[in-house]
Order: sequence, then structure tokens, then C-alpha cells
Amino acid sequence: MSISKNSVWVFDLDDTLYKERDYQISGYDFIASLIKQIYQQDVNPIIKQAIKDKKDVLQSICNYLNLPLSVKDSLLWQYRNHIPKLMLDDETKNTLFHIKKNSLAIAILTDGRSVSQRAKIASLGLSHYDIYISEEWGKDKPDDKRFLAIMDKYHSADSFIYIGDNINKDFITPNKLGWITIGLKDDGSNVHNQGDQNLAIEYMPQHWINNFNEYIKLVNISDNVIIGAGSTVIHSISSSQTVIGSPAKQM
Ligand SMILES: [Mg+2]
Repeated sequence: MSISKNSVWVFDLDDTLYKERDYQISGYDFIASLIKQIYQQDVNPIIKQAIKDKKDVLQSICNYLNLPLSVKDSLLWQYRNHIPKLMLDDETKNTLFHIKKNSLAIAILTDGRSVSQRAKIASLGLSHYDIYISEEWGKDKPDDKRFLAIMDKYHSADSFIYIGDNINKDFITPNKLGWITIGLKDDGSNVHNQGDQNLAIEYMPQHWINNFNEYIKLVNISDNVIIGAGSTVIHSISSSQTVIGSPAKQM
């Protein structure tokens, strides 16, 4: 697949640019140190056990400390508003570096709370990208508002690419709008499952990659809009839209 340098690359955040599991670990570490500070108790073993038993971690902490359940809400807001310790892995870093040199713009389009998502993005060192967070727009994916806003802002782009992980909501709208869609396969550590595998084909990404190393094999950045690319046919229908002829190509 060849993609023009005059393209806009848009990424989902959780379980796409980083593993959401790392956010959970960071959040529970933060809660444990907060509890240590204000209740002088070590709840690390409680947290570990609750995760192992797939139980509600914050409720387990409240039970252990004999605290009313209303405290759970306070802890939950502490968790959501904490500044996480997150890092991009090398593959993701290299991919973003490569795309940055070969694109018109990079954006992040994610669902979630403004403060939590922006804290994650800041921790990953990605705040300089164009950011589209659902709470700030009043609509979750698959609503098209943010996708259309990106197309409007970069109206001179040759094509738009969305990279995500959740087939329930990530790809249906960019597919409809003529974007190129790429799905990142769950390596077994995703917090939420990848979605309902029996969904209609329009929900599926046009391409799957197992990791960002495979991105390099998938994408050949070019100066021109390429009309045909391997078994996937890309029809250029306007200066700002491309339509993929054979969607849901499994890799
Ligand atoms: Mg995701």
C-alpha cells in the first residue's frame, strides 16, 4: 500500500499508542501511595489479589480498610485525575517518527474524559499533536463529528488514515468517509476485548497489523497518490478522499 506524503494520520489512544494496562498499573500504584500517605496502610497486596480475582480493586481497598463505599468515589476520581507514568515503546516511537517526516499532520482521536486522556497524552510526550477527545466534543465514536472536523481542517490532504484497535467503534465511520483504516491486533494484553468479531464488514479495518513493526511492511510512503496498490485498490475520488476497493484485508 502506498500513501501520499500529503496525508493526515489519526491515531486512537488506548491500546493503540500505548497499552491501557500500563495506565491501570500506574493508577493503582498512585492509589497505593496515596493510601499509604493518608491511612498509613500498605494495600499493594490487596490490589494484586483483586486484579488476580478480577474483582473491583477500589471496592476491595475500601472493604480492607473498613471505609464506607462513598470513599471509593473519591479514590476513583484520584485514579482518573492522576498524572500517569507512561512510555511509548520503541516500535511506536519509530513509527510516529517515520510518519511525522512523511505526512501532512498527525492527530489523536480518542474517547474518554478530557483530563484523563490529556494527562495520558502529556505523559507519552504527544501533546503537540492535534488532539480530539470525546468529552470535549460531546460525542463518542463512532459519531462522525471529529472525523469531519479533521477533514475540514486539512481539506487539502490527499488522504486520511485512522489506526485503532476496537472494531465496535473505531473503523465504521472512517470507512464510510473514505479513509484508509488500519487495525492493531490485540497481543493478549488489551484491557477490553477487540470487539464483536461477527460484525459486518464495514466495521472492520481495511488492513490489520500485529504490531507497529509491521506498519513499515504495510506502508510505502510516496510523493504521489497511488491509484492501485497490490491487491488493495485505492480509487482517488477527490483531492481529499480515497476509497479502498477491497476492504477488510486480513494480514
Ligand atoms: Mg482503543
